[in-house]
Amino acid sequence: MYGKNIGKLSEKFKCTKDAGIAKLLSDVQDKFKNILIFDFETIPSQDIYHIGAIFNDKIFERKNIKHVKTALSDLSEFSKEADYILGHNIINHDLQIAGDAFPEAGFLKLPVIDTLFLSPLAFPENPYHKLVKNYKLIKNSKNDPIADAKLAWAVFEDQVAAFSVLNEKEPNLIAFFAFAFENFNLGDGRSGLQGIFDLFRYLAGKIPDKEEAKTIFQNLSEGKVCRTGIGEIWEDCSGHAAQRPVLAYVLSWIMVSGGNSIIPPWVKHEFHEISGIIRNLRYSCKDETCSFCREQNNSEKLLKKYFGFEKYRALPDGRALQKEIIDSNLNGNSLLGILPTGGGKSICYQIPALHRHNRLGELTIVISPLKALMKDQVDNLNRTTGTETAAAINGSLTLPERGAVMEKVRLGDIGILYISPEQMRNFSVAELIKSRDVGFWVFDEAHCLSKWGHDFRPDYLSCFRVYCKLQQGLRLSSSCRGFYGNSKKRCHRRNFKPFQGKAVP
Ligand SMILES: [Zn+2]
Repeated sequence: MYGKNIGKLSEKFKCTKDAGIAKLLSDVQDKFKNILIFDFETIPSQDIYHIGAIFNDKIFERKNIKHVKTALSDLSEFSKEADYILGHNIINHDLQIAGDAFPEAGFLKLPVIDTLFLSPLAFPENPYHKLVKNYKLIKNSKNDPIADAKLAWAVFEDQVAAFSVLNEKEPNLIAFFAFAFENFNLGDGRSGLQGIFDLFRYLAGKIPDKEEAKTIFQNLSEGKVCRTGIGEIWEDCSGHAAQRPVLAYVLSWIMVSGGNSIIPPWVKHEFHEISGIIRNLRYSCKDETCSFCREQNNSEKLLKKYFGFEKYRALPDGRALQKEIIDSNLNGNSLLGILPTGGGKSICYQIPALHRHNRLGELTIVISPLKALMKDQVDNLNRTTGTETAAAINGSLTLPERGAVMEKVRLGDIGILYISPEQMRNFSVAELIKSRDVGFWVFDEAHCLSKWGHDFRPDYLSCFRVYCKLQQGLRLSSSCRGFYGNSKKRCHRRNFKPFQGKAVP
């Protein structure tokens, strides 16, 4: 039987001191021994032309399929003894196609274990998994569904091992996952994830009720979320089976958040509400008495935390312009900041950007017209904060350098990305930005935006187009934008013609 591979996994742990993990893995092996693992190869019109499946050590393969119904009927016959069905990204892909082509297929009624849905829970920190990139498996060979089925199984093995370790450390977390996936159904006639629920219930040995689950959520997120926020989201999410998994992904992320971890884009696509929930839990609530939010969103504390200074610079009249700008930004306002040259304008967007990355995993885009300035900004910021949070994409990078920066952005390591305006015409840059939640956009040296000024660069129009497109296609987690210029140049609101009525309030 193919399930014996889990046996191999428990072997790995036998030599460790932790006999508990080995025992758990062996139990999982018994419970999930009759699994049909499969993968389809399809042509772009979604027609299946190649099926690979494994069940109890037997291989099923159909190539160059002409009659899809017959092939799927054969697969049903092959797997009629199966208790579960497993694959990677099969809920939204393979099972949908099979359901459309042959709704009578017996395997469509089996409880599903989709390893895509397990990945962010098993590996919440970067890198998620060596075999998984975005929502796809990293394949060694093309058009080999049997190899892909084996790969999905290898991912599942590692996920089970990761859950076993988590269960040892924090049994209530796995119990919470069981609560979150109980009765979950994706709607639209799509299969639920009963198999995932069975796995968590088996690992945890219990399913908490709603009140117990709330206590677990509060305890595991203690000190990392706003209590008012929990109150606001709990009833909405916990009452509906379709929304409960959101709580599992949110809790999982919160427990490792504060650095380079992000929730994968596909989770946000599947559960649109997730960014809003994280914002509710981790950003400023409107309750003046909430000490957590007042403490976290305090611009002077943030200055001390990231730059080591006690106070913002005061103008001769006593006003702290930097603080006013940062407070406005932290409150989610769009703004135009004009400071004297050398007035410390960078800090005005860097502090909110670092804060948003840390609290929400968001990316801040800084459109900067000068390559040399960009490099200085990135180097200074990383040196001062002792992090690698800032990076730049511009025409002077070599291809490998550019690839490395893009990968870091994708994985969530980068919180502030400097981009030259002409890069916004690049398709891969636009796709990269789409892969992250953008906290806010900064137009540095904003006098360059002045449409009739001698500094105007037509590429700024591309920025505007990409920005509008992203805003339509994405749920920008904040409407916040910033413009920063210096008072040597004439910056007047009526000159920001392309952005008028859109970005400047
Ligand atoms: Zn609060």
